[in-house]
Amino acid sequence: MANFENLPDEILLAIVGQVRHDSLPAVARLSKQFNRCANAMIYRFVHFSEPPKSREHKELQFPDWTSKHRQPLPAFDNCPRGDSRIYQISLFLRTVLESQALRLSIRAASFKWRTRDIEDKNPAWKHKVSILKWPKALKTFHFYIPFEYSSFPYLIAPLSAGGFVKILRPQRKTLEELYLNSGAASGRASRKAIKLRVYPKFKRVGLALEVLFISRYREALRRIHFGGNEHPTISELLPAGLEELQLELYNGCPFASFFEDTPPEKLNLRGGELSDWLCEIVRNKKSHYPALRYIVLWQEVRDGRDQFDPHKEPGCAKVVAASEAAQVQISWVASRKAPLFSSSPKCNLAFLVPLQTHDITSSMSRNNPAEPHHLYSMGPPEFFSTEHCGLCRLRFPVARLRGLDSWQSDFRAEICFYPDNQTNMGITHPATLGDVLEEIDVAVSGHRRIPMVTILRQTLNRQNSRLDQTAFCFHDWCYSILMWKVSDLTKLELYRLIRALTLGASICGDIYQDHGQLDPPSSMLKLPIERRFCIWEYVGLQTAYSAFVLVAGETTRLARSLNCFNDRKILSMQEPHLSIKKISVFGIEYIQELYNMEASKSEDKISGSVTGLIFAESLGGICAIKVLGIGWNTGWHGKVPDRGHVWFGFIKGTVSRLLWNYSGLHCTSISDPGSFSADQTLWDHPSPPSVNPDAAIFDFERDIIGSIRPDKAPRKRFYRYLPLLQGNEYVSGLTIYLTGNGILGLEAHFTKTSHLSGCRKGCAIHFSLHPRERIVYAWLRTLDLPSPALAIPTLRIQTTFGRAGSFGSHILPQQVMTDKYKWILLKSKGCISGFYYEAPISPVITRLAVTSDATSQVDPPLTPQYATWGIPSPTIAARNSCQSQS
Ligand SMILES: [Zn+2]
Repeated sequence: MANFENLPDEILLAIVGQVRHDSLPAVARLSKQFNRCANAMIYRFVHFSEPPKSREHKELQFPDWTSKHRQPLPAFDNCPRGDSRIYQISLFLRTVLESQALRLSIRAASFKWRTRDIEDKNPAWKHKVSILKWPKALKTFHFYIPFEYSSFPYLIAPLSAGGFVKILRPQRKTLEELYLNSGAASGRASRKAIKLRVYPKFKRVGLALEVLFISRYREALRRIHFGGNEHPTISELLPAGLEELQLELYNGCPFASFFEDTPPEKLNLRGGELSDWLCEIVRNKKSHYPALRYIVLWQEVRDGRDQFDPHKEPGCAKVVAASEAAQVQISWVASRKAPLFSSSPKCNLAFLVPLQTHDITSSMSRNNPAEPHHLYSMGPPEFFSTEHCGLCRLRFPVARLRGLDSWQSDFRAEICFYPDNQTNMGITHPATLGDVLEEIDVAVSGHRRIPMVTILRQTLNRQNSRLDQTAFCFHDWCYSILMWKVSDLTKLELYRLIRALTLGASICGDIYQDHGQLDPPSSMLKLPIERRFCIWEYVGLQTAYSAFVLVAGETTRLARSLNCFNDRKILSMQEPHLSIKKISVFGIEYIQELYNMEASKSEDKISGSVTGLIFAESLGGICAIKVLGIGWNTGWHGKVPDRGHVWFGFIKGTVSRLLWNYSGLHCTSISDPGSFSADQTLWDHPSPPSVNPDAAIFDFERDIIGSIRPDKAPRKRFYRYLPLLQGNEYVSGLTIYLTGNGILGLEAHFTKTSHLSGCRKGCAIHFSLHPRERIVYAWLRTLDLPSPALAIPTLRIQTTFGRAGSFGSHILPQQVMTDKYKWILLKSKGCISGFYYEAPISPVITRLAVTSDATSQVDPPLTPQYATWGIPSPTIAARNSCQSQS
């Protein structure tokens, strides 16, 4: 009798093809041969889903699919259609990532969107996205977005359909079916219609109408115009092979209203607009997508709705006529499930059992799991771009520049694939930066296994700046200058140089407040073009010229000074006799190296144990340090910069050892190795208040919502301090600078001078104080809503004379009466002696607190009182008020 094991794989596949899908995992355990053949079936269609709450899997509401590409199984009634449900994505990935063969078996995938998937830290979502990037894998893809993301107050922007299609890009050459169900959440407007044409194989597409159709109302709102390169017309957007198109319509209005002369306001449509758009699609069938046969307009309707007959609607006459002429069948469907890909789920579903011992394919192509990015087969690895050129420190333009300034958009990036091994890195080919938030695929030279990376343009608010995720970007122009000047620079040296000169995200805020003193070329860009031409006549292209001067002079000099420690060093502080070596980087002097010399050679007379340390930091480097002891301190080693933003850090307690970090060019940070896991606090003032600012400052999320932030990696936290005392003089007045968004700056006035913290922008509100008057209480005023997004505070103060000053926009008395606002009394013991706040990344100050002196408070805090009149009606409102009277 012939043994199964002697049969060729084709016969075995035919046999396994007859097995119920839910029995396949058992078949896969029979033998190596069966394993190989059953796996191909099991992994064909995967659906990632939440673990079922009950054991009754059939009750799950999923966008079950049938596809043209479904697994060929005999069509008897209780036959499973054959998609594998995956409940534990990590187990699945562990199995499938090790095996190229299994990965190639996957033809189709589907999953459901969850709100928490939005957080890109969620590994499940990351994995889901990575599945989409498997090259040459998918034929069909279904994606279901339930309408749960927008539950107020969590105003999280969901991934747009446009963004999603972008993620699918690696599947461009194979994907034939795409289905994005927006779950009746239509109206989520995207800025650009999706260019489906870049997916030449698309045959069946189901999308929300808004993803392809941009009404004139939205067009006006977004100031876009159609017919150009940026915004092609619909016939230019649709793929050439299209056969079926399903459009999901907003289900808040019946079909007929979309085609009325005056559609309901909430549709944001003009009369006949949708009809004209549909006519354009069918009229261009011959020239653009000759295979088009069906257009389905679908509304998700839970209960029955009256049948809609387009032939009876006068507004549809044009569409009906045009589609008949073009032989395109347009249907109107109101149903619970999308008609194009839905079917009734009658199947038993297979659980996917991770196959380990029996999986012989996995051993055939096992990669070294210790290597990062060994998952290249999932698509190019992603890196975040830096904000500034790593060679001239000019900020990259937010949008692509053309013409004479286009050199600013041409960049390269240095990428380190292995954070612990700097010898393994690559430089990308030159490429052009796109707009902010765009992602760019760039080829990498000099790396064997990773020929291409995806670079995502970084936004200012991104806090995360891990080395292994950073693409250190620089102008191609600056690179060519540097290579011309220093031809023998190695790749490692270039990496060190760029990493040392690149400014982190937390520092960028300083630069904007310093009005771009770091990038002189940018001031040129503010001049009108004809003035720039006048200057260019003399100096050539000024901006490129400035970059040339900076790189040929400063950066080249620094490239030759790359001789200090590369990362970290621990220095004993038992008997410190410090000696430093300085280096000037773009006009600021930094500590390049720091030695602990023998006592005899030292100039410093340090005696006794060290009890603390102050250091001055500017733009990510340590400029000066001062060592403190009992009854003695050293002077500043190094120079505290006299311009730009300087931050002071404090290390307190008996310090025996210190950890110094170096960038290869200069010292970047100092910390106590014992408190390595804690945040480091830096102040803009050399003698800040002695508080733990993070704990003392009012925190909306912690104190009102009661949520505790998840543990983050320790980082530097920057605080600004504005004392209200100068010597013995108390402040004579206080000015707060405000916009509708909140406080931008605080200024303390004294008889001869004033001190500003933040910036002087927006509306200035001044409060003068009598020479004997003190501020005694301060409140933050916020809207009483459980949303941190709306909780940006303004300030109210009370003086010892019983006067109150309120800074912030006018508020309506009736809103006070109905408790729309909340006043938070800031903790203070005596009179208020200063304000401090966490330096914000955006200009608006959100975390503000006060310091106080020891005087005793006499008066109790007054409850905020508000006059009982409303805003006086301006004349422009007079007409409305007449109407309301009549
Ligand atoms: Zn540059």
